[in-house]
Order: sequence, then C-alpha cells, then structure tokens
Amino acid sequence: MILLDGKATAAAIKKEIAARVEEMTARGERRPHLTAILVGEDGASKTYVANKEKSCGEVGFDSTVLRLPESTTEEELLGEINRLNRDDSVDGFIIQLPLPKHIDEQKVLNAVDPSKDVDGFHPVNVGKLMLGEPTFISATPYGIMALLEHYNIDTKGKHCVVLGRSNIVGRPIANLLSQKGNPGDCTVTICHSRTPDISKYTLEADIIIAAIGKPEFLKAEMVKEGAVVIDVGITRVPADTPKGYRIAGDVDFAEVAPKCSYITPVPGGVGPMTIISLMRNTFLARSLRTK
Ligand code: NAP
Repeated sequence: MILLDGKATAAAIKKEIAARVEEMTARGERRPHLTAILVGEDGASKTYVANKEKSCGEVGFDSTVLRLPESTTEEELLGEINRLNRDDSVDGFIIQLPLPKHIDEQKVLNAVDPSKDVDGFHPVNVGKLMLGEPTFISATPYGIMALLEHYNIDTKGKHCVVLGRSNIVGRPIANLLSQKGNPGDCTVTICHSRTPDISKYTLEADIIIAAIGKPEFLKAEMVKEGAVVIDVGITRVPADTPKGYRIAGDVDFAEVAPKCSYITPVPGGVGPMTIISLMRNTFLARSLRTK
C-alpha cells in the first residue's frame, strides 16, 4: 500500500508557485491577490479561510478576508461581489460556503465575474469544465487530479466509482475522470444516497472517490484488493481531544488501507491538495489578467 501524501505533494507545488511569484515580482509585476468573503461565524468555515490566508502568505500572494456578519442580507452580499468584480487590485475571490440560510447560494455564485471565479463554481466555468475547455477547475477535483498525476496512477480504462454527487466534488470529479486524457479515460459510476446496495459498485471499482461526509462509511468488505481509494470526507467527530473533536474521513482507513494499492490519509490527503489548487487557480487568474 502506498500512501498518497497530499501534504508533501502540495508542498512541492507550493514551492513552484512561490518561485513563479518571485519571477513575477522581479519583473515588476504585482503579486496575485486573493480575497475570501466569510459570512457569519461557522467554526469550520473560519478554519478553512484561515488556512487559505496562510497558504497565500506561503506562496507570496496578497490576501484579504472580508468578514461579514451573519445578518448580512443577500443584497448587501451581492453589492460586495459587484465591488470585487470591478476592483482591479483583486485577481480572484471566493465566497466561503455554506452561506446563512436566508441567502440564495446559487444566486450569489452566479454574480461572480467568471474571470475572477477561482473556485470554479460559476455556471460558465462549470460549463467549460463539462466541455473539457480550459477553465478554473474547482479546487477539490483539481487537487484529486493533481494527486493522481503526481503519483503516476494509471487511470486509463479503469472503473472509477464516485460516492457523492455534489456540484463541488462528486459531479466535477466524475466528469473529469471520464474525459479523454491522463488522468482520465475512466469508466465512471456515480453513487448517491438513493443508490441501493452501494457495495455492489464499490466492489467492482479500481478507483473509489468517497465524497459523502459520512465518517468511516467505506469498510474493508466494500473494497476490492488493490483498489485506489481517495477519501475526500472531512467531518468533525466528537472526541476526547483539546478541541473536543477529531477529523474523520469517509473511509475506515485502518480497515481499508491494507487492501489498497494507493490510499489518501485524512488529514493530509485531499485537504492540502484542495488549498494548493485554489492557489493555482489564483495564479492563473493573475496571469490571464496581465495578458
Ligand atoms: P454534500 O454537498 O453534502 O454532498 C454529499 C453527497 O453524498 C450527496 O450527493 C449525497 O447524496 C451523498 N450521500 C450522503 N449520504 C450518503 C450515503 N449514505 N450513501 C451514499 N451517498 C450519500 O457534500 P460535499 O460538499 O460534496 O462534501 C462531501 C464531503 O467532503 C464532506 O465531508 C466535506 O466536508 C468534504 N469535503 C472535503 C474537501 C477537502 O478539501 N478535503 C472539500 C470539499 C468537501 P444525495 O445527493 O442523494 O443527497
């Protein structure tokens, strides 16, 4: 079994980006600038935004966090988005999800200028991804593809089973892996909460991508010998730790790992790859704006 080390892979990509930012500033160009909008007080969202800010610092980007209260109206948020769309000093921005219930998430995502949509959630960028055109690929699927590529995992003709059909993970990764190329050229099955007998599919899978948010859902008896397992899940589970919780993936790692050819750990697998992919998208946004 080989551990797919997202932390080390992301660190290597981080170095490359940092070197390119140095070249950029040596040419007298402005550093890439990422802005994150954080609405409300959700603990996990605050942690994600803090991690993104930290990563920006490590690769030499400028970063700004726009903290808005839980009571922010949809109209106020749309106003901030319009302002950022017009702000030439901002190359890309993200709206940390989830948003408070009184705000229509899709309406907000649709308001982002697609050329600054470094999360790749705008319908224009989602459409381009579907068509296999160059675009901002949303960070988690982009990170998974980069990890498969980094470890030279042969995906051609393989049966990939994706657990979960969300717009930000399940659907885009299923689409990317079914496209021509490497990684790609997979035969893809998508399973979700209405799929009966999920084991029937996972037992036939050469590659399993678990993105459902159900701690330790995937058990050893659901996985065939030699499978590649990518665990996207991040759930806070109450535990006797200083923070009062631990982070659990969707895979029962202790049981499943011995059967795998490759597997990602949680934490240290897909998580760091997601953040570094956001940095890649921001660098791309900056580069496209200077052209
Ligand atoms: P989501 O929007 O809640 O979608 C979950 C998907 O899983 C849905 O399609 C749902 O089916 C399916 N599902 C739920 N329970 C299931 C079950 N028992 N059997 C089969 N399918 C089931 O979640 P998400 O945003 O995709 O995130 C999934 C997980 O990945 C979460 O733990 C999240 O925190 C984590 N995540 C991690 C990263 C990272 O950087 N590592 C990034 C993003 C997300 P229905 O469609 O039928 O409801």
